[in-house]
Amino acid sequence: MSASKRYPALDSFRLIAAVLVTAIHTSPLAGYTPLGDFLLTRVLARTAVPFFLMVSGYFLAKDGWRSAGKTVKKLLALYAGAAALYLPLNWYQGGLAPLAFLKRLALEGTFYHLWYFPAAVLGILIARQLSRLGKFWPLALAGALYLVGLGGDSYYGLVSRVPALKAVYGGIFAVFDYTRNGIFFAPLFLLLGAEGRRWSGRVSAAGLLLSLGAMTGEALWLRQMGVQRHDSMYLLLPVCMVFLFSLLLERNKGRAPMAREMSLFLYLLHPWCIVLVRGGAKAWGLERVFIENSLGHFAAVLVLSLAASWALYRLRPRPRPVTDRAWRELDLQALDHNARVLRDQLAPGCELMAVVKGNAYGHGAVPVARRLWKKGTRAFAVACLSEGIALRRAGIGGTILILGYTPPEEVHRLEYWRLTQTVADLDHGMALASTGRPVRVHLALDTGMHRLGIPAEDRQAIAALYGQKNLRIGGVYSHLCVCDSLERADMDFTESQLARFYSAVDWMCWEGLDPGAVHIQSSYGIWNLPAQPCRFARVGIALYGVRSDSQSVRRELDLRPVLALRARVASVRTVACGQDAGYGCAFRAKRDSRLAVVTIGYGDGLPRQLSQSGGQVLIRGRRAPMVGRMCMDQLLVDVTELPQACPGDVATLIGRDGGEELRAEELAQCCATITNELLSQLGSRLETRQTDF
Ligand SMILES: *Cc1c(COP(=O)(O)O)cnc(C)c1O
Repeated sequence: MSASKRYPALDSFRLIAAVLVTAIHTSPLAGYTPLGDFLLTRVLARTAVPFFLMVSGYFLAKDGWRSAGKTVKKLLALYAGAAALYLPLNWYQGGLAPLAFLKRLALEGTFYHLWYFPAAVLGILIARQLSRLGKFWPLALAGALYLVGLGGDSYYGLVSRVPALKAVYGGIFAVFDYTRNGIFFAPLFLLLGAEGRRWSGRVSAAGLLLSLGAMTGEALWLRQMGVQRHDSMYLLLPVCMVFLFSLLLERNKGRAPMAREMSLFLYLLHPWCIVLVRGGAKAWGLERVFIENSLGHFAAVLVLSLAASWALYRLRPRPRPVTDRAWRELDLQALDHNARVLRDQLAPGCELMAVVKGNAYGHGAVPVARRLWKKGTRAFAVACLSEGIALRRAGIGGTILILGYTPPEEVHRLEYWRLTQTVADLDHGMALASTGRPVRVHLALDTGMHRLGIPAEDRQAIAALYGQKNLRIGGVYSHLCVCDSLERADMDFTESQLARFYSAVDWMCWEGLDPGAVHIQSSYGIWNLPAQPCRFARVGIALYGVRSDSQSVRRELDLRPVLALRARVASVRTVACGQDAGYGCAFRAKRDSRLAVVTIGYGDGLPRQLSQSGGQVLIRGRRAPMVGRMCMDQLLVDVTELPQACPGDVATLIGRDGGEELRAEELAQCCATITNELLSQLGSRLETRQTDF
């Protein structure tokens, strides 16, 4: 199984934030420098909880707050569990009257750190309502609520000098203990997270440093004046948070599930650990090291909390494959290897654009793209809008080019998800431009395939598209349609396509129209053509380590198949000579035979005719022929020659087993198709297992 070794920023910072919260509750520097402790726990660490809220807002906004209900339910379930976990401590601290307990449960949290849950729930409900008010009002209103909260928090001493205001806050405090809650505190950070503002790394870092400095000044000034009723909220905290979040978003590619889950456990468990450390220290007479020494206290609590969180993390229920019926195996190291080999074939400055359309040719677009992204690929191509969005949702950054048509009405989605759209022809380009929104595009040029593209010779059309200010033209490309062939006529045709393409590009440069990223090669363009003076090569099938068919290519490359396809033997039965088997009794035993029933069928994407056109599987490292008609969910294999075959055996349809290998090319040939079709048909019912040895 692949373990995410590099922890991307957003998830990693969750863990840092949880450590900061632990610091707030243990004051590590209090015994050494009270001022230092103030700066650490009352200023710096105040970024932790707003950060958690912003992350929630960020992800909730991605689907237009539709999953808010689900998130609230999850928070409530967590809260119920956490409240139960802390009941013994409530009781130990003298207990609470039932009514007081209920009020706490609803508003302040039943233990000091649990205020977050009711605040987040209420905050999400309010923020979702506010988010419907357009562009300006949500933040303005949430900001106003925050200002009210601020007056009851670190500015209370100033604000309460005005008698009318003092009366207002008196009213608020009759209900809530603090204004740092779901009404005045949480909505603003949720909505700021939802905005997901991004500046470049440099701007964010500079903004963060400046605002953090200014907030420190603000905090010191308030402390000096002694006006703080509580010290959770500062005027400049939202400003700091916006820059911090932008910085993390800029670096946040992929996920670090371990950091994320550990941070939750750490947050939930550390108050219990504080109690245990204190109890333990007293029991063993170690008060001087673990209680009186503030740093020792903090360290002991942190180590114990992390250990407990780690244990919980290991014990947590993990989703297991539901069945063991039929699955695809992804060899991620083969994918790394292929990307390296292909990259080596490109001209200097030319990069791979990984083509992951059709669910990455049936391999699974998300795991494939995540791996490529992790290993440095920064450009991807997909067939359509939904495929592009799925990649962004999975944390893929960089360029994502949609090779196919997208209706102009979807331009706002292209913009929101930062996708690059192919201009299919002049009309499409004009329609995209006339929506009034900026669109990133690459121009497709038709150099003879006559599928998509502006005719490469239609200079007028090209110039017209460059005249549209909404079209952000970042590239120009074309597609070669016979470069898989080594026939003389086909090679001449490819030459003519290349000539048309480069002459259009040269003309653009001559006219001062910046073509941007230029690209024309696909997999067979790499196998059969010399390196091209381009910015990208759009590589699909070769990346997956297979050819479309078994025809030869000009340059053999050492590529390895990424995918294996396997199922199981469910049952083995004997069929006497002369008996029939399967639908239509299409198989008749010519001898006493043993038939294995294998748990995969056309419902998993296999071509139905395969079993009657020479299809084979590997069982125990040996080939065995499919027989009879393939069913939707099963197929029959003749294992008469394989007496050891038994239920539970793995049957390999594509891939290696022992010394034998069945290649996708062979399978495709049986059904008179190409691997591209065969693989892209693989169905959603298949499990995916990733191997990363
Ligand atoms: C599918 C596709 C590719 C990738 O082709 P492979 O032969 O799989 O490398 C490249 N460019 C365009 C326009 C495509 O449609």
